Amino acid sequence: MADKTEADITGVPATPSPKASVDRIGGRKLKPATMMMGHGFDPALSEGSLKPPIFLTSTFVFPSAAAGKRHFEGVTGKRPGGSDGLVYSRFNGPNQEILEDRLAVWEEAEDALAFSSGMSAIATLFLSMVKPGDTIVHSGPLYAATETLIARVLGKFGVTWLDFPAGATREEIDAVLTRAATGRVALIYLESPANPTNALVDIEAVAASRDAIFADADEKPPIAIDNTFLGPLWHQPLRHGADLVVYSLTKYAGGHSDLVAGGLLGTKAHINVIRSMRNTIGTICDPHTAWMLLRSLETLELRMSRAGENAAKVCAYLKDHPKVEHVGYLGFLEGAAGKERQADIYRRHCSGAGSTFSLYLKGGEAEAFAFLDGLRIAKLAVSLGGTETLASHPAGMTHLSVADDRKAALGITDNLVRISIGVEDADDLIADFTQALDAI
Ligand SMILES: *Cc1c(COP(=O)(O)O)cnc(C)c1O
Repeated sequence: MADKTEADITGVPATPSPKASVDRIGGRKLKPATMMMGHGFDPALSEGSLKPPIFLTSTFVFPSAAAGKRHFEGVTGKRPGGSDGLVYSRFNGPNQEILEDRLAVWEEAEDALAFSSGMSAIATLFLSMVKPGDTIVHSGPLYAATETLIARVLGKFGVTWLDFPAGATREEIDAVLTRAATGRVALIYLESPANPTNALVDIEAVAASRDAIFADADEKPPIAIDNTFLGPLWHQPLRHGADLVVYSLTKYAGGHSDLVAGGLLGTKAHINVIRSMRNTIGTICDPHTAWMLLRSLETLELRMSRAGENAAKVCAYLKDHPKVEHVGYLGFLEGAAGKERQADIYRRHCSGAGSTFSLYLKGGEAEAFAFLDGLRIAKLAVSLGGTETLASHPAGMTHLSVADDRKAALGITDNLVRISIGVEDADDLIADFTQALDAI
């Protein structure tokens, strides 16, 4: 018995070697929508299970003491290339690793990391990049919690910031970066489209400005961008000069309003630095959330495509409604008066207008509230990117604590309603908006 292996007895190797994921057939590179069903997971390693099991374990068994030492040499950076196996669940686990492999596919990123929330991804990114005295240059406005993190939290540790408006021209970006470059610029951080203005950032101009201003510097500040609103389907910033892309996976990627998670994609060199910080502070998502996200990613393209088509139909209907003052929807940039530069950025950077937009009603808060309370299909909630249509009132909800002059500058008026369109039937949604507008 001792010299007979299991394979001799059953004809099946006891530990089958992993089956390489297919990413190409013939000369054809497979699309992300296809890769989401198998990439990064070999059923043979999990009892033939078609879907990955949820691996609930806090730690992983080493085959030998020497292998354990080798793992730690990788994790701690003593040996380049990182860990070559799983060690401890604060660092990583099988479900999160599959998720990271699949996230990277969407933007052809070299590497990716999963996080417990969009904000923990952003916080881990910042912590891994900055030191006292550094400056973060960012586009404005940013997601409110991100602005708080930069100005109030990092500010306490001696990190300063400078910003330029999301729609800034190359000259305006140059001016801000030149001012910042008198000290150490740790990071250039963008968000496009900005919320709730929907202003797009010219990533190509930011990258050209960074490359010109830091041409002779020892290190160039990396460009990171929050791609939650249009990514990964309609906006792929790594192609336009960004080094890192941040996601709140809570939104379109999760897509069912039933989880909170974050993601970071980018070059291996930058991701390794951020992974090391994540290993230290434990901002990785849990295995169950990772598993939920694997399921979500299988329908990402279906869901986003449908939501995008629905939004186009709903916005076309709302545009000319007598009770509507204006619809701030990226699909209406083309040919709009005074929007030539935004339309040009849109043409160069985006392949779709998304499904989140700003609806300015005629009137003020009373009209906006009457409309919101009149909705019967759309739910009254903050957040976006779910299968269901959501509507909210930024001035009275997400942006309630923003100072009045800044609210005015951002176009956050009392008649503004933010809408995220879901995957319902478009005509049913139009019927709902019709009766809610009638109720005003
Ligand atoms: C929701 C959101 C975040 C924060 O993500 P969480 O998952 O809630 O932590 C960051 N940026 C944008 C643009 C968002 O919409």
